[in-house]
Amino acid sequence: MSAVGEALAAARQRIPAAEARLLLAQVLKRSAAWLEAHREAALAPLQLASFNALVERRAAGEPVAYLLGTREFYGRDFAVSPAVLIPRPETELLVELAIVKVGAGGTAQRAARILDLGAGSGCIAVTLALELPLTRVTAADVSPDALAVARDNAARLSAPVELVESDWFAGLREERFDLIVANPPYVASGDPHLAQGDLRFEPIGALTDHADGLAALRHIVATAPHWLKPGGWLLFEHGYDQAAAVGDLLAAAGFADIEQHRDLAGVVRVSGGRIPD
Ligand code: GLN
Repeated sequence: MSAVGEALAAARQRIPAAEARLLLAQVLKRSAAWLEAHREAALAPLQLASFNALVERRAAGEPVAYLLGTREFYGRDFAVSPAVLIPRPETELLVELAIVKVGAGGTAQRAARILDLGAGSGCIAVTLALELPLTRVTAADVSPDALAVARDNAARLSAPVELVESDWFAGLREERFDLIVANPPYVASGDPHLAQGDLRFEPIGALTDHADGLAALRHIVATAPHWLKPGGWLLFEHGYDQAAAVGDLLAAAGFADIEQHRDLAGVVRVSGGRIPD
């Protein structure tokens, strides 16, 4: 028989203490605060075995978010699986900017049409649908497995998001949007980050275009004007070293009012523009 405190102490030899607490809390279906207050509580053999198995997987590199099956984004818990990219805090910048564009609190959002390309877990589309309840949001992804995760998240969070299996724009029915957002794969093939940390376990097609990192962005920027209403906005996330390149792509595609936004670290990570009226 092992106790909470002993199990955590043993796990700390392999993985960070904070991660061990999250994993044990998950196994016991208790909060981290409960664990702190019940360090003497006994673990059943099955609970200990489940916890040790998770610790082993984490020690072998599996992301905590996949082991827990959930990750917080913009204040809500999203289900995640290895079929989807793990929501990242920097993507909240894209969401914040999108909300401003559509005009939260104003009447401008009424009936606005929003498209999220490459929706993955649906964290962007679901958040926008909940923060901008007067809009109608469509989430597109080429992966049926990703769409299943997005559908699950939309249902759990009661977000009225339309889900479409589509290779970027190719599977969409003809219409025009007020706002298109995307967090596409933008890591260049061969980038050493792909072989490090959580990225090793994430869907490769959500991370890299298997080319120079700009292939998906090139396609989205060049094609989006056809799918935007006059005055409509395209906003997307990109890599830390792609600001100049995507600025050129936006200008070449006829976008006006090109904007480039810095993340908390001061790096331009979100760019976009408006189709002239
Ligand atoms: N920001 C991710 C990273 O960790 C990449 C996400 C993406 O390609 N859209 O590198």
